[in-house]
Amino acid sequence: ALKCGIVGLPNVGKSTLFNCLSNAKAQSANFPFCTIEPNIGVITVPDDRLTELERLVKPQRVVPTTVEIVDIAGLVKGASKGEGLGNKFLANIRETDAIIHVLRCFEDDNITHVDGSVDPVRDKEVIDIELQLKDLETVEARLPKVEKTAVASKDPDSKKLYEVLLKFKEALLAGKSARTVELTDAEEKVARGLFLLTSKPVMYVCNVDEASILTGNKHVEALRKAVADENAEVLMIAARTEAEIAELESYEERQMFLEDLGLKESGVAKLIKSAYRLLDLQTYFTAGEKEVRAWTFPKGALAPQAAGVIHTDFEKGFIRAEVIKYDDFLKYGSEQACKEAGKMSVEGKEYVVCDGDIMHFRFNV
Ligand code: GDP
Repeated sequence: ALKCGIVGLPNVGKSTLFNCLSNAKAQSANFPFCTIEPNIGVITVPDDRLTELERLVKPQRVVPTTVEIVDIAGLVKGASKGEGLGNKFLANIRETDAIIHVLRCFEDDNITHVDGSVDPVRDKEVIDIELQLKDLETVEARLPKVEKTAVASKDPDSKKLYEVLLKFKEALLAGKSARTVELTDAEEKVARGLFLLTSKPVMYVCNVDEASILTGNKHVEALRKAVADENAEVLMIAARTEAEIAELESYEERQMFLEDLGLKESGVAKLIKSAYRLLDLQTYFTAGEKEVRAWTFPKGALAPQAAGVIHTDFEKGFIRAEVIKYDDFLKYGSEQACKEAGKMSVEGKEYVVCDGDIMHFRFNV
């Protein structure tokens, strides 16, 4: 499953956010949720299309697609030097697909800030610097060997890697994250193998007070300005309020609370959707009487690769896929009706799967 890590300085609201994410069952009462470990939660991806398919197909069960969230607490100044269990936390970040960087944008004299005042731009830099230092260490450790092979063997791959390492080193030394370095597709490919912390896609979550949830505040503005050139997503969430909402018993109560605040959807739903956009992920469905289910695949995937999300055998033995567009399914009401209306297409290995496709894979075992 897709894995997102929550990072941020102490007392910015990470656990509060994690807890309300973990309560994402709040949005869809019958969807499964579990906490694997105290700091790891699996949340279901809210998707209205799944509800519609359930209504039409009436399956025995509905399985939404999931995202794994890891609360990476304890990142502090000096983490890259191993301070405050720093290395362990950095290792946790390395295993994630994307980073949710929580920033304190709320004022509250009762809650201590580690650096004495509310300043999300400074806070962001503290975290960035730790991650960049760690990356610099990684890059510098690789450079001498790669340089040798690049020169000695004239091997084009190691030459490419060498160039990429030099670009990263320059950026990191200048206090920039690896994700800001422009790379060609070929360079991108070798860069991925380095698993740098600052090359992971990032989303900034400004934790604000309830009163600022619609309007934002000066801290959010400052942060937006500071990250303007990063092409990163900035979201506002009132984590404490969301946590309160998540505790309400019924869906109606929660919806009413949100509407009172002037919100259409919870911050949690917004956050998950953003994570999908950030990572270029899409959803296809399988819809049978036993099970209606959502599956996550990388945008642009060909049918066999998308089938591989269900099982590797599906990818290896792929023969063809029968595809119905979601809108057609909704319009005609069933697979049979779509078939009769000529709305089911048979696609081969070159088919690019689209968001919302209802797929039926045929394969050899
Ligand atoms: P972490 O150390 O980053 O995990 O931070 P926590 O989630 O434990 O939050 C630290 C403290 O800030 C807790 O007492 C929270 O209740 C409080 N807190 C979190 N979000 C907000 C908020 O939006 N407004 C206010 N006033 N307090 C908050």
